[in-house]
Order: sequence, then structure tokens, then C-alpha cells
Amino acid sequence: MRTATKTSKSNPIGKDLFKLCKKMFPICRSITGDGVRKTLAILQKYIDLDIHEIQSGTQVFDWTIPKEWNIKDAWIKDAKGNKIINFKDNNLHLLNYSVPVHGKIDLATLKDHLYTLPDQPDLIPYRTSYYKKNWGFCLTHHQYEQLEEGTYEVFIDSSLEAGSLTYGEFFIPGKKEEEILFSAHICHPSLANDNLSGISILTHLAQELQKQKNTFSYRFIFIPGTIGSITWLAQNKDQLSKIKGGLVASLLGDSGDFTYKKSRRGNTEMDVVVQHVLEKSKVEHRVIDFIPYGYDERQFCAPAFDLAVGNLTRSQFGEYPEYHTSGDNLDLIQARYLEASYQVYQNIISTFEKNIFYRNRFPNCEPQLGKRGLYDAIGGNSNSKMMQMAMLWILNLSDGEHSLLHIAKKSGYKYALVKKVAKILLGKGLLERV
Ligand code: ZN
Repeated sequence: MRTATKTSKSNPIGKDLFKLCKKMFPICRSITGDGVRKTLAILQKYIDLDIHEIQSGTQVFDWTIPKEWNIKDAWIKDAKGNKIINFKDNNLHLLNYSVPVHGKIDLATLKDHLYTLPDQPDLIPYRTSYYKKNWGFCLTHHQYEQLEEGTYEVFIDSSLEAGSLTYGEFFIPGKKEEEILFSAHICHPSLANDNLSGISILTHLAQELQKQKNTFSYRFIFIPGTIGSITWLAQNKDQLSKIKGGLVASLLGDSGDFTYKKSRRGNTEMDVVVQHVLEKSKVEHRVIDFIPYGYDERQFCAPAFDLAVGNLTRSQFGEYPEYHTSGDNLDLIQARYLEASYQVYQNIISTFEKNIFYRNRFPNCEPQLGKRGLYDAIGGNSNSKMMQMAMLWILNLSDGEHSLLHIAKKSGYKYALVKKVAKILLGKGLLERV
């Protein structure tokens, strides 16, 4: 039985988006292991995800898929045998990817393996050690300050063995082979905004989209951060030319204003559409240029691929106080923010779907307009000068890649005017629909 997405007013989708975040929250995820599988199994109740398992040791470009990590239990006991730190209370207490350990150590040795946030003494930090063998615990700075001299017993019941990296993929074929790619990372343990919010929104979007007839094809991938996108790109490197645009979804449930980080090229159709939707939705937002730091857009925008993939979040990556701490919990995200984010993503899709693309049938220099009666066709209009200029813009940019919306933005002319002129050019046989 699949869980249905509801969009009616009496049952707003915000509640459903939050419910899915809540369901996934307790699971201890990592870049590999059963936490990822359990999470994807939950998503399979909503959409028919394909699950891919790529073996440890597989070479993916310059990286190697690491051994699979799984965790059963972890704690620290004081000299009296009291569990003072317990993974079962909060899975952030464990340094993610810790190797197994069991033994008695003194406080000084223990402290070499402890991580805290002295500036945020009530919060537990989220720390990982994927590619360097290590073990450790994360705790609040208050807990740390209460540690007394003495012997401590540490226990981490983890395994790091040959296995696989798991990711989920869902494809919805459309009329065109060209694809829009949506990606969310699924490797964080109990953190809500980063990134359960993105997973929940993409899952519900996919569920809605599959019910419709779409012009574009849509691909949703749920992958561990960095190594997951590198793996996916390595597996699909021959298919990437189909990707028309994409978004990395994360940080979508907090109260922050929207942040759009442009693709590396910065002027792709996706960049134009997202900025248009944010302006039209009248939501507070900022647009920033691409930087090679952040989420998986780093990999999608690697120089070899340079895909038209941006990153649309609310708060900016790393810029809110609860980021990568126990403060990024279910209290930080709210149904209404998730819902507003969902609507922006939905508007981006519907704008893409409505976009009109033409190809200039006479791209070898400017076609001769006079002999086709084009000056006469627009001559009687009060804004004929503007229409003439719009005509030149449309002819120059109609290469199948720039939509009419894109041409309107770039030329500075109103969309209605550009559409009207395009219709005239179409009538004269200068354009063809792509
Ligand atoms: Zn993160």
C-alpha cells in the first residue's frame, strides 16, 4: 500500500511532509549501511524506488567506495558503571563511522576521542570520520565539563566490512528524453533540516509527478553525500547529456529565507526558472553565485560535466546556528515551511513544463526579414521598435536551449511581448517548436 500525498486545504501537504521527516528521524544513517537501506525502504512506501548496491572497493573516478559501516550500540561508562554517554539516547553521540572498540581508559586518553561545541555548550555536534580510521564520541560541552578524573569504559559495537554503498533512484519518463534531475543526500543520522526536509519534499514531488503526463522526464536520486553523487556520476557518465537541469534539495524546513545557489554556468535554463519562480512567488530570497563548496552540486558541476544543477535551500549551507548539531531536530522544522518549500519546487517544475522552446530554422546569419514581410507584420503596432528588437533576440537565442522565458529575461522585454513576436515568427516559418 502506498501512502497518498494530499494537497487539499483540509489536509495540507505540510503535515505529510513533516510526518515523513518524523518517521525517518530516529534512524542512524551514514554513507553506507543499514540506516540508508531502512530509509530507502520507507521511501518505497511512497514511490517505486530502484535500489542500487555498489560494492565496497569499486573505483569511482578518483575515489574508492569504502567498506560498509553498521552500528548496533555504543556507550561510555564512568568508574561506577553508570552509562554517561549512550548512543541509544541520541545517535549523534557517536562519531559516525567509528571503528569498534571496547576497553578501559583514563580521562586524558578519552578526551582525545571527544568532540564538543564550547560556543554552543547545550548542543551535541555531528562529526564523521569516513576515510580515516578513528573512533569517538560527541557530547554537549556541559557534559564534557562534568567529567571527573578516573577510569572510563568505552564500548562501540560497530562493524566496518566489505559490503556496498546503497542509493535509490526513481525515473519518470516524459514526452521528451531530456531530464530534470533532483537529488537529496541520505547520509545524515538524526538531523531534520539537513537533510530529511529535502528527502521528504523530493519524495512527495515524485509521487505527484508520476500521476501527471509530463513533457520532460524526471529523475530523483537519493544518495549519500559526496561519495554517492560521485558514484552515481561514474555509473551514468554516458547519460549525462540528457540532463537539462537539476536541483540539489536540502535545508527546506527551517524558517530561513530561500537561498538559490546558481549552477557553475550561472545562466542555464534552471537558473532562469528558479529565479523567476522565487521572484513571482514573492518569497524572501537571495541568489548567490556558484562556489565549489556545499552539497552535491559540487560534483554535478565538476568541470568534466558542468551540469545545469543548482542548490535551492532556505537557510544557507552551514549558515544557521543549529547546522550539524543536535539543534537540527524536529523542533527546528515546521510543516508550514516545508509546505512553502514544496510549493516553490512544484512551481519550478510547472514553469519548466510550460516553457516554450523554439529553434531558428535559419541560423546562418540573420534571415532576411524584409522579404518575408516581417517589418509590415509588426509595423502597425505602437511598440513596433520593441517588437523588432525582440524579434532579433528570439532569432538569435532560439537554439533549442533558451526558452521564451529565458529570452524575455535576457532581453529585458516582457514575456507577453516576446511570446507575441515568437508567434509571428512561427507563422512566417522562421521558427520550429522543439
Ligand atoms: Zn550536512
